[in-house]
Order: sequence, then structure tokens, then C-alpha cells
Amino acid sequence: MQHLDPESLSLLALGEELGDDAADHLRSCTSCAAEYRGLRRAVMAAKPGPPDATALEPPGPQVWAGIHRSLGLSAAVADDPLGSRTSSPSPTPSGSPTPLPAREERTGRRQEPGRGSGWFRRPGVWLAAAAATALLAAGVFWSVQQNQPAVTPLAQAKLAPVDQHSATGSARVVEAKDGQRALEVRVDKNEARGYQEVWLIAPDLSRLVSLGVMTSESGTFSVPAGLDLGEYPIVDVSDEPVDGNPAHSSVSIVRGTLAS
Ligand SMILES: [Zn+2]
Repeated sequence: MQHLDPESLSLLALGEELGDDAADHLRSCTSCAAEYRGLRRAVMAAKPGPPDATALEPPGPQVWAGIHRSLGLSAAVADDPLGSRTSSPSPTPSGSPTPLPAREERTGRRQEPGRGSGWFRRPGVWLAAAAATALLAAGVFWSVQQNQPAVTPLAQAKLAPVDQHSATGSARVVEAKDGQRALEVRVDKNEARGYQEVWLIAPDLSRLVSLGVMTSESGTFSVPAGLDLGEYPIVDVSDEPVDGNPAHSSVSIVRGTLAS
């Protein structure tokens, strides 16, 4: 079977008439009909005015899964954000030929020779595809934003190396919607000979609170409710030997002072 060429398909999608032969083929050929539907959706999406939601087929769950994986998003947003909207069955089963415009709309004018010599040169096709892509990207971005837990950075610190160390890093305190604060710590390398422990320390170094062990180059630590960060503004990552002694080893790797 001789399929429709890409130029004819895109002209059809743009609403031009190509005559009975093309129309008959489109009605009987599943493959060309699927191509036409895809191009038609892009054209509809690019039309001025409010987007015609009925012309856009929501992406399947595998699309979100791919985005989720490649962006390394958290498990909290693993569910397809459009999942609830994809549950209703499509009125047109995939694979079946697409209904065409009424006959009088597509008969009459055949394409003139030399006109539109290459579908890829037609700006409308590219514009339509670009607009459809932008709409999809905007929708995905919006969905991700909606699903992320809102955090408010309260303070942050640059972490500078101490003594013989050369690691650097950063720390910030964030507050979740429920008021729980967390210290997020990141260093560019783990220089501990034992293990890294994260502390909040008073300016005169007389009092300190251990927030926990950090086994890699980053970690998030709950800040105890009621702990005044103004009294314990120094973020310190120490090198602790595995000796069972809970006190600070006095060997600091990086240190910095929180500022809002
Ligand atoms: Zn075909």
C-alpha cells in the first residue's frame, strides 16, 4: 500500500484539502491515521485562544515515569500527576481510523505542483510542534511544583575547611509546612578517617548539640523543636573515631556560621 507522504499528512493536519484519494487512504490506513492524529493535536494546541483540552490526549503514565527517573525526583512525587485524568477511556480507540471532516470540506482543491515543497520547511508544522511541547512541559512543571512539599529557607551557611582539611560545603535550615525545621548539609568530599558527625555549636564553643551521623557528602537532619538557632549558629562537621565516645572529637572537617 502506498502511504501518504509526510507533506500530505501535515497539510491535512493544517486543514488543507488533498482530494478523495488521500481522504480515502486516511480512512482505511491505521498507520497514516495515527500520524494524522498526532499532527492534528499539535496543530490544535498551537491555535490561538484557550487550548482545546479535548484535542489533547493526556500522556500515559510511562511519560511521567521517564521524567521522574531522569530528573531523579523523590518518591513523594512518583505517582503520575495526570493519573486521575487519564482514567477515563478515550472515545476513539487507538488504532482505529480517525473520522474525517465532512466530504465537501475536503474535496475540490488538489495541491498545486511546487507548492509547499517539503513539509519540514513549513513554519506552521514546527510552530505547532513547538507549542505542543511547551504546553506539555509547562503542565509537567506545574504538576511537580504542586506536589513538592513547600519549604522556607530560614538560614544558610558556607562551610569552610578547618585545619588540615580541604573540603568545603554549605548548609541551610529549612522549615516544612508543619513547622519542623531541618538542617541540610552538603560537603564536596568526605574527609573523615572515622565518620562524619554534624553539630550545632554555640559561638563560644561551650555548648553543642549533635544532629547525627552523615555517611556521604550530604544529609538532612531534624533540628530539635525549641532549639534556638541564634544560640547555636555554628554548623560543624567533625571527624569521629569509632570509639563509643559521644563527645565531639575536637577534629572538625568543615565549619560555618548560619545567617538568615
Ligand atoms: Zn497509509
